[in-house]
Amino acid sequence: GGAAEPPPRLVLDLERLSTVPAEKAGPLARYAATIQSQRGDYNGRILSIRQDDLRTLAVIYDQSPSVLTEQLIAWGVLNAEARRAVSDD
Ligand code: C2E
Ligand code: C2E
Ligand code: C2E
Repeated sequence: GGAAEPPPRLVLDLERLSTVPAEKAGPLARYAATIQSQRGDYNGRILSIRQDDLRTLAVIYDQSPSVLTEQLIAWGVLNAEARRAVSDD
């Protein structure tokens, strides 16, 4: 990637997340709810998360960050620009 490019924002769509079956979305939904609670950010329809959080979620889902990123984009819960956050792995 270009050295001058800022890292992409990672933005979760919480409304889409609520429509994903719980056996898939459960760990991510609990993680997002914890961040909301820690921030006191309860009413948002979307949630900006840290780059590090994507790596933590990959461990939770037992997948590589790039594979998890593709899954979350396919579910419609993560913005497609998030691909750039893991493209240098
Ligand atoms: P913390 O990491 O010690 O951050 C303390 C405060 O610094 C945060 O309070 C926030 O006001 C600010 N802050 C830290 N990093 C950032 C950042 O990248 N962007 C912005 N805009 N502000 C930042 P806040 O929001 O009340 O969060 C309290 C605690 O909740 C944080 O303490 C952290 O432990 C946890 N937390 C909140 N959001 C996240 C998150 O997205 N991921 C993770 N891993 N933890 C989070
Ligand atoms: P943006 O980053 O493009 O976010 C657009 C809108 O998405 C925000 O409008 C807010 O309604 C929603 N949004 C994004 N992330 C979150 C989130 O983690 N929680 C919730 N509840 N909503 C979220 P808003 O708040 O009027 O902010 C407008 C613009 O102001 C943002 O555009 C961003 O450029 C800037 N901004 C707001 N808060 C922060 C911040 O903590 N850090 C930085 N760097 N910029 C911020
Ligand atoms: P943002 O607020 O625009 O922050 C962009 C980047 O600036 C963050 O990327 C992080 O690398 C750096 N940064 C901003 N504030 C701090 C800080 O207080 N301490 C440190 N060590 N770095 C900081 P990152 O971590 O990937 O976070 C992406 C976005 O996630 C943030 O955009 C913000 O919208 C949200 N976020 C992350 N952590 C927190 C948090 O603790 N509280 C809140 N309210 N929002 C957070």
